[in-house]
Amino acid sequence: MRIVVLGAGFGGLELTSRLSAEFGDAADVVLIDKSEQFVFGFSKLEVMFGRALPAAVQHSYRNLVKPGVKFVQATVQSIDPVAKRVETDAGTFDADILVVALGADLHPDATPGLLEGGYEFYTVPGAFALREVLAGFGGGRVIVGVTSTPFKCPPAPSETALLMDEYLTARGLRSSSQISLVMPLGVPIPPSRAASAALLAAFAERGIEWHASRLVTSLDPGRKLAIFSDGSELPYDLFLGVPVHRAPAVVEQSGMTVDGWIPVDRLTLETAFPGVYAVGDVTSVGTPKAGVFAEGQAAVVAERISAIIRGTAESEEYGGRGSCYVEFGQGRVGRVDVTFVAGKTPDGDFEVPSRALAADKVEFGTSRIQRWFDPSPALGVSN
Ligand SMILES: Cc1cc2nc3c(=O)[nH]c(=O)nc-3n(C[C@H](O)[C@H](O)[C@H](O)COP(=O)(O)OP(=O)(O)OC[C@H]3O[C@@H](n4cnc5c(N)ncnc54)[C@H](O)[C@@H]3O)c2cc1C
Repeated sequence: MRIVVLGAGFGGLELTSRLSAEFGDAADVVLIDKSEQFVFGFSKLEVMFGRALPAAVQHSYRNLVKPGVKFVQATVQSIDPVAKRVETDAGTFDADILVVALGADLHPDATPGLLEGGYEFYTVPGAFALREVLAGFGGGRVIVGVTSTPFKCPPAPSETALLMDEYLTARGLRSSSQISLVMPLGVPIPPSRAASAALLAAFAERGIEWHASRLVTSLDPGRKLAIFSDGSELPYDLFLGVPVHRAPAVVEQSGMTVDGWIPVDRLTLETAFPGVYAVGDVTSVGTPKAGVFAEGQAAVVAERISAIIRGTAESEEYGGRGSCYVEFGQGRVGRVDVTFVAGKTPDGDFEVPSRALAADKVEFGTSRIQRWFDPSPALGVSN
């Protein structure tokens, strides 16, 4: 059974780790990614705010030593979901089971003025470059703004605004600065009333201006103005944007997408093409685009593939559960636990920010790196 997994992010790494743990050398898994290394989304904020060095958060795929898993660094150039055949710049791969975990591509160029007049903090190069930009910033009007929906990790812009408050305060620049947060959502984290209330209270306490239910559609670099979807404008000295997200072009060209993303069965993660699964940000499965959900989906697909290989009945179904850590600054992290079920409005539990949860978040990252990169680590249940 040849299994080909496209994308070695949260989804691809979790899936291949589980298949390796189950079948060891007997597995025939190829994992393909164009990057040299994995970087957690949250590590981008760590680097940008000077809390970690780039080298400390880059996990090289060269160190991925998994029995039964062959990592291939290559760019996927075409996907034929009927033949289950993938063309890459390192050759052709034929699969019996194909899993698409290629995430969402980011397009800062799709927002007029963003490249010329602002910065984005969602790509690895964008976030890493901001480290120097922020270090040289002398204070002024800062806007953290979302340019389109959907976007990954809905708490990340709120976290960025709070960490910016902490950063400017530590440098004695807060009193000469304003921080504005522009979001398309009515509240910061719609699936949790308690988390949203805590974030709104933190914004009010720290003087962060909250602009709800609108997008930043363009920047006017000459006049240093951010233009909102409702036509209003806000001046800035430093603009930090969440860029436009799209499924990778190779996925769009494969004919697998509907309305921009790959539809899947929300319980099995199977696409409309037999033997082809999709997990994580590239799908329209109904959970937010976040690593914890990609990981939970990958765990289910791994179990279903294992059942096929073993010839047993497939039983594992995706439950839509995820826990997201939320940075509040000042060394404190909160956590939202939420389950997305079709037809029900989620209302996640919120654990208030604490140093203990900040330590849990560090452990979350460390444990993932161990189980994704070490030859035979213990695996937890995550769906
Ligand atoms: C600032 C920020 C903070 C975040 N914080 C959190 C957080 O605290 N918790 C959380 O759960 N999530 C967080 N996220 C979101 C999280 O990073 C993503 O949702 C998650 O990585 C999605 O996993 P995935 O497997 O679907 O895709 P990805 O992890 O994006 O992986 C996709 C992979 O596909 C590869 N790829 C794409 N196209 C090709 C191609 N043509 N050929 C070969 N390879 C290709 C890419 O190189 C990439 O490695 C954050 C994101 C950002 C930007």
